[in-house]
Amino acid sequence: MFGSPGSGKGTQAKLLKAKLGIPHVSTGDLLRELVRQGAASGALAAKLRSGLLVNDSVVNDMVEERLMRPDAAQGFILDGYPRTEAQAEHICKWFDAKGIREVVIHLAVDYNNIIARLTGRRQCPQCGTLYNIASQPPKVDGVCDLDGQTLVVREDDREEVIRERLAAYERQTTPVLDYFRREGRNLIEVDASTDPPAMVFEKICQAMKHDCAQNAS
Ligand SMILES: [Zn+2]
Repeated sequence: MFGSPGSGKGTQAKLLKAKLGIPHVSTGDLLRELVRQGAASGALAAKLRSGLLVNDSVVNDMVEERLMRPDAAQGFILDGYPRTEAQAEHICKWFDAKGIREVVIHLAVDYNNIIARLTGRRQCPQCGTLYNIASQPPKVDGVCDLDGQTLVVREDDREEVIRERLAAYERQTTPVLDYFRREGRNLIEVDASTDPPAMVFEKICQAMKHDCAQNAS
């Protein structure tokens, strides 16, 4: 699954996992697990702590090992991988060798919508309650319903921070999606701009069914 910050990818992955009964394999979680178990080498752990990009081969091996576990025998949801063109090429070859058929789901969004939504978020510094000035406003402008504290914009929700995260996502993901397109892999684009999560999920299910039917014929 691919989706920019604010696309609701995490929510959709959860829904898909519940519906299909297959594991959600997140490379972020796998890397954290390695470090927690002390299984990561000192150099790898240091890289992870400093947020540096991990070598393709390390990530590829880690993902393959995870996908070979019994719970993934009927399928899996990959999240946060492949992150580079080399990883994409690697995993496609692996899929082909194993006879695994992929569906690449790209949650396409209008960045202006995301920016409007995320910059509308306000948080209470006292109790942590989140509001949105557009969709979930407090009863009184700028004030927490629960304790009357003045709401604030979180650092992560500042427009320039969001724009930078979107640009970083774009820089990283475009070459990977281009690879899938160029190689004629099974890529479906789902518009996730404005619909509520349940409707986006419905679109994903329909696209996947359509895909299954196409491949069966
Ligand atoms: Zn509050």
